[in-house]
Amino acid sequence: MSHRFLNQKLKEKGLKITRQRKDIFNLLNSNKKKHMSAEEIQNEIVKKESNLGIATIYRTLQHFVDSGIAIKHDFDDGKSRYELKVDDSSHNHHHLICQKCGSIIEVNLDLMEELENQIEKNFDFEIKNHTVKVYGICKNCKR
Ligand SMILES: [Zn+2]
Ligand SMILES: [Zn+2]
Ligand SMILES: [Zn+2]
Repeated sequence: MSHRFLNQKLKEKGLKITRQRKDIFNLLNSNKKKHMSAEEIQNEIVKKESNLGIATIYRTLQHFVDSGIAIKHDFDDGKSRYELKVDDSSHNHHHLICQKCGSIIEVNLDLMEELENQIEKNFDFEIKNHTVKVYGICKNCKR
């Protein structure tokens, strides 16, 4: 993920690339598997620059979501979590959520084609995207 991508996506929405937007983008880019919350982002950012308020971070993240730079997730732990939209696919990858340790495992296959075909056929419904959260026990907690 490059700043060119960030710049282009922001521009499409009439937004400018600023240092704060760049910093938040860089942080998400170097924590790809982490699904960070706004608070976690703030904790990391303030180590480098002071006075970045939580409201600014939320606003920036919302801009990222609106312009297709990031995806916002709700993993039922009371916080919204964010990750960069890494793949070109318009369909989200899936998340496995461990109910013991809370770890989040990504499934980078769609695996929904059969269901999607059935829905499009039986409901005359054009599918644009989906969110799949699977709850269970991860392999480390199963031991
Ligand atoms: Zn799909
Ligand atoms: Zn676990
Ligand atoms: Zn993810």
